[in-house]
Amino acid sequence: MQWLGRRESSNVEDRRGFSGGGLVAGGGIIGIIIYLLSTFLGGGNVDPSQLPQVSPQTQQTTLTPEEEKADNERAKFVKVVLAETEDVWNKVFADNGSTYTEPTLVLFRDGVASACGNASAASGPFYCPQDGKLYIDLSFYQEMQDKLNAPGDFAMAYVIAHEVGHHVQNLMGTASKVNRLRAQSGEKEANRYSVAMELQADFYAGVWAHYDDKMKNILDAGDIDEAMNAANAIGDDRLQKQSQGTVVPDAFTHGTSEQRMFWFKKGFETGDLSQGNTFDDPSLN
Ligand SMILES: [Zn+2]
Repeated sequence: MQWLGRRESSNVEDRRGFSGGGLVAGGGIIGIIIYLLSTFLGGGNVDPSQLPQVSPQTQQTTLTPEEEKADNERAKFVKVVLAETEDVWNKVFADNGSTYTEPTLVLFRDGVASACGNASAASGPFYCPQDGKLYIDLSFYQEMQDKLNAPGDFAMAYVIAHEVGHHVQNLMGTASKVNRLRAQSGEKEANRYSVAMELQADFYAGVWAHYDDKMKNILDAGDIDEAMNAANAIGDDRLQKQSQGTVVPDAFTHGTSEQRMFWFKKGFETGDLSQGNTFDDPSLN
């Protein structure tokens, strides 16, 4: 992808230096429990300064200078991709007579608190409709390359564009409409709606790639293959990542690898929003 020297989005909250709210609270609670235990066992003569201090920092991944450099390079890259999605969706919305509200991207490391609950790096990237923010731990980039066999800058761009696709669904009112329908349906039907939502986010990622390349020639040879390979690698039949006890909006069913590739490609080839009705996909029945 042609990205060096391009505009970086300013709609970014960089929380990589901080721990998630859950971790901070965890440290505090452990401290209190130790304090109470020592108080009960030791007869109350406890000097608080003698208590082990559970600092959030000790629970975080420590990066080597090289890793930190790579992480910062990735941060730069995702900021450029976010800016590219802003340019495209601002134009597409304006062309359709409406206004695009740009989402915020939260970069985190290890853990993060969102309006949708606490998440860890294992949750993978996700979009939270309640606060309209995208959450990404950049270590997912490495994971795609090393564990999911989905390398390449455009594979990561596709992941970001997919999350932005959920934001587009939120703005278009599709998300709330579908949530209403899901609430009235049985489990199987509700699951079908979830898959259709995911496939539509893939379709929108394809639509983004279509217009961004048309407007600014961002694509290198092989980029679409990288995205297709990533769509293939992170289909439900290949991957089911979910961490327990936390709310992970994007850990819902995503559809098979084949469905994901089909809809991304359809968005990319047509660039036509009216063709993104994934809810009528016969393969979902
Ligand atoms: Zn999704």
